[in-house]
Amino acid sequence: MVQVNENYLKLKAGYLFPEIAKRVKLYSQSDKSSNLIKLGIGDVTEPLPKACRDAMAKALNDMGTSQGFRGYGPEQGYSWLREKISEHDFFSRGCEILPEEIFVSDGSKCDSSNILDILGKDNSIAVTDPVYPVYVDSNVMTGRTGDVLEDGTYQGLKYLAINEDNNFLPELPKSKVDILYLCFPNNPTGATITKEELKKWVDYAIKNKSLILFDAAYEAFIQDKDIPHSIYEIEGAKECAIEFRSFSKNAGFTGTRCAYTVVPKNLLGFSSKNEKIELWSLWNRRQSTKFNGVSYIVQRGAEAVYSLEGKKEVRGLIDFYMENAAIMKNKLQTAGYKVYGGDNAPYIWIKVPDQMTSWDFFDFLLQKVSVVGTPGSGFGLSGEGYFRLSAFNSRSNVIDAMERIITI
Ligand SMILES: *Cc1c(COP(=O)(O)O)cnc(C)c1O
Repeated sequence: MVQVNENYLKLKAGYLFPEIAKRVKLYSQSDKSSNLIKLGIGDVTEPLPKACRDAMAKALNDMGTSQGFRGYGPEQGYSWLREKISEHDFFSRGCEILPEEIFVSDGSKCDSSNILDILGKDNSIAVTDPVYPVYVDSNVMTGRTGDVLEDGTYQGLKYLAINEDNNFLPELPKSKVDILYLCFPNNPTGATITKEELKKWVDYAIKNKSLILFDAAYEAFIQDKDIPHSIYEIEGAKECAIEFRSFSKNAGFTGTRCAYTVVPKNLLGFSSKNEKIELWSLWNRRQSTKFNGVSYIVQRGAEAVYSLEGKKEVRGLIDFYMENAAIMKNKLQTAGYKVYGGDNAPYIWIKVPDQMTSWDFFDFLLQKVSVVGTPGSGFGLSGEGYFRLSAFNSRSNVIDAMERIITI
């Protein structure tokens, strides 16, 4: 008889997005439904940069010639892409991240859950609350938590609240935690962390021999000079942090698929006998065994992100979405809403008015003005009373949605 992985049975039924879909469908079938605008999605909307498309078209042609054809590539990614990443994303910011410390992959979502393959089962783990659900669910699936509790949290996970009271910056855990997930600029709150604040986390991790899993998927949206784009801008981070980066949100690769993970050479874990083990070697082994690399064509597309043309186009995309965010923030503030995020991230985090819950506000916007967003409570207990709007949309949809919201 086939036994299933019972950890999957602990998962809260994928509640958030199916529930949104259900309510939207019901509303669309009602007679008062009008033109829906969806500001709930965490997916980009603008077309791929021409520099990337041209590079991929050329790569596809290469593949049609006997000299240019490529079969399996290196599991870690082609060296020409890893060298560009090392130079443009790290050395240019004073971070000494070498090409061999960069592992090219098909996504940060998979990397941030696959990383658990090389980490022991008995580590204590902390996530922020609200949180990107992937971090939590991948720990549940691999048996690193207990059961789900009535309030929707999992036994055995440590939740670090981020809310108005702490300015959306989690407090350092009072006790020792082995693995810490941090995402800045943050999804869903749009909050950022300064170098000074991030230094405290690095110091904590070094002192406690902990590992920080740093998700920088939104670094390209940073506008302020003193906000770090990489955790490796902080002294000591190479001894305690793995960083996840993606081409999804900067270059619009959500459907094209390319990302990378940085595992520094001198980053150590420990065996049960207290031997020092290089995490790099384990991840290299994991990727070589379980992964066969990203397609040559897509890696050429990612490489073009670092060309002069590519950089200009990516800047244009970021500016476009950030202009959306600015319009949204401005209109909502004028209408009297308390609004966070949106300055260095494509997400607006609204404080829900009048003692409504996040779901009350969801229904309110849907029924009154046909605008769909994401209830904050779907990202965790501390997200209750907040609401996420995404700046990934067309300009006309953003303006139209804001005009509607300010009239109610
Ligand atoms: C969108 C997003 C990513 C990117 O995931 P990919 O699999 O690379 O598309 C990573 N982390 C967070 C928090 C995100 O919102």
